[in-house]
Amino acid sequence: SPALVEVKLGARAYEISIDDGLVEEAGSRIARLAPGAACAIITDANVAKLHLPALEKSLDAAGLRHSTVIVAAGEESKSFGVFAEVCEALIAARLERGDLVIAFGGGVVGDLAGFAAATLRRGMRFVQIPTTLLAQVDSSVGGKTGINSKHGKNLIGAFHQPSLVLADTRVLETLPPREFRAGYAEVVKYGLIGDAGFFGWLEANWRAVFAGGDARIHAIATSCAAKAAIVGRDETEQGDRALLNLGHTFGHALERIARYDGARLVHGEGVAIGMALAFRFSARTGLCSLEDQARVETHLREVGLPTRIGDIAGLAVEADEIIDAMQQDKKVERGSLTFILARAIGDCFVAKKVDAGEIRGFLQKEL
Ligand code: NAD
Ligand code: ZN
Repeated sequence: SPALVEVKLGARAYEISIDDGLVEEAGSRIARLAPGAACAIITDANVAKLHLPALEKSLDAAGLRHSTVIVAAGEESKSFGVFAEVCEALIAARLERGDLVIAFGGGVVGDLAGFAAATLRRGMRFVQIPTTLLAQVDSSVGGKTGINSKHGKNLIGAFHQPSLVLADTRVLETLPPREFRAGYAEVVKYGLIGDAGFFGWLEANWRAVFAGGDARIHAIATSCAAKAAIVGRDETEQGDRALLNLGHTFGHALERIARYDGARLVHGEGVAIGMALAFRFSARTGLCSLEDQARVETHLREVGLPTRIGDIAGLAVEADEIIDAMQQDKKVERGSLTFILARAIGDCFVAKKVDAGEIRGFLQKEL
């Protein structure tokens, strides 16, 4: 059964629909939002091959004119060069202000197309049709868009909210299992941050979530609602939104050390290790119980996610390297480390000015 989540940001609001087969309905949904609009689809080569014909057919059936820009699959497409190509293609397609940009792909396409929509003509409407689990539960919600600099990830960007998000759970059938698992780490994150009941539900129902159908729709909708609530309270990350970074300070450092080589470590795997580290650190410092820490670790491992730095094949790393990499993270302010730590499953908080020496000592024991 379909689910609907509303994202409310001050006076504005938009809907996230979650259901099986939404790509087939995209044309009629978009026509309702913007009758007669021209659409420019931004997608990547993998998604284009598997799912573009269905989307184009649906837009045709709704009488919507459309053009398509296909970029290479992978993080490299979040670059100045590809961003320029996308903008030029959108301008060449004679898109006007009332027209729509459609981001059809994973988080890479969403961030890139969203940033193009944010800047073209100082802001065009756009629709997200996320096709990875990560994009459905995380990157398509909340309006962060952007590209990478040679100095770091997501350093160039804008807040630009979509007008509509259509999360089709059926397109996830073609997602490589490793990508699905990685996205699932972000689903677990919402339970750990603030919803112990949801974490318990995931422990009992994760197999059904992986299998598809209603359990999957429920997990995605609960995740989107959790993110929407946090973003609604704090759109531009002045406070609470930082909770969404649970596992990410460590995770980003590990991704950086692995040189963003997806063969070694994909984002969600870094987050899984980071969340396990955050709970181990919290348990070690007496903030959280050993029982909760063990439950987190057990669940991540049973779904096949890594929980230890040593789980990353072929990565030799020292504690100081991890500290250095964390200090290069844009979320680190003036040398002090900010972490999301846990009092319990479902009760995380933003810990500012965590002593780097204490983290170093902890990491040395981990390695
Ligand atoms: P991705 O977009 O690279 O997709 C992963 C892989 O799956 C790609 O090879 C892609 O071609 C392929 N793919 C996508 N959909 C598919 C499908 N249905 N079937 C088969 N293959 C498919 O990666 P991602 O994990 O979706 O997103 C990662 C990006 O998201 C990062 O750049 C990250 O910075 C960004 N992100 C942004 C936010 C935000 O708030 N804006 C939040 C989290 C992550
Ligand atoms: Zn993440």
